[in-house]
Amino acid sequence: MSPAATTDTTEADDREVAPGVYRFGTARINWYVVEDDDALTVVDAGLPAHYPQLAPWLDRHGYTLDDVDALVLTHGDADHAGFARHLVDRGSSAYCHPDDHHHLRDLPHGPPAWFLRNLWRPGFLRYVVEMVRDGIRDVDPVTDVEPMNDSDVLDVPGSPRVIHVPGHTPGSCALHLEDRDVLIAGDAIVTRDIYRNREGDPQLMGPADEDTALARRSLDELAGLGDVTLLPGHGNPWRGDVDTALDIAS
Ligand SMILES: [Zn+2]
Repeated sequence: MSPAATTDTTEADDREVAPGVYRFGTARINWYVVEDDDALTVVDAGLPAHYPQLAPWLDRHGYTLDDVDALVLTHGDADHAGFARHLVDRGSSAYCHPDDHHHLRDLPHGPPAWFLRNLWRPGFLRYVVEMVRDGIRDVDPVTDVEPMNDSDVLDVPGSPRVIHVPGHTPGSCALHLEDRDVLIAGDAIVTRDIYRNREGDPQLMGPADEDTALARRSLDELAGLGDVTLLPGHGNPWRGDVDTALDIAS
């Protein structure tokens, strides 16, 4: 195999974390592209500085921005909506649970209280520095958003089934891609400890959850999905029986 071909394959495989599901963003903040029959859904929109990752990937895979049919937001936090406005302006339909539409309308947000309370942690400070560098203070509001509700199977590429898991935010949702055993968990379960800046086991976001008790109760909504590739909003993929992940996280 020629060196050029090797490089190309590596790049493509690096992003593919499940069949037809590709991971973007940074080590700390994830967003995903779901490929289905030559059409694409983007799940979450990272931060503004992540947007330039998309075009070269589309190009390499024979797509253009016009092939991005939909943007599905697991919730309305700024680090998941960074370039949402760009995709909406380009004609992608955006979906988010109605309980988080106000989060999207009110962007950019000031730092919430939990955020300020955790700034003393050196690991968390590195996450904050990255977010500021990547434009969290300049995220455009997103107003043109379709509602998605619990149990909806969205008519977008990948046909994700919506599972409402409030707690991190009121409108937080996970997305189950049944045909490929993928659970995109948003921030309902993550695998990175953002306070210590470390990869880890499946876990709740703790201080970043608006309602910690509710976030814990919502894990029950994810039980019984069987073996999955769990793709969190923050951290590396986790593979196994989802009930094991829930046990570890709760
Ligand atoms: Zn997040």
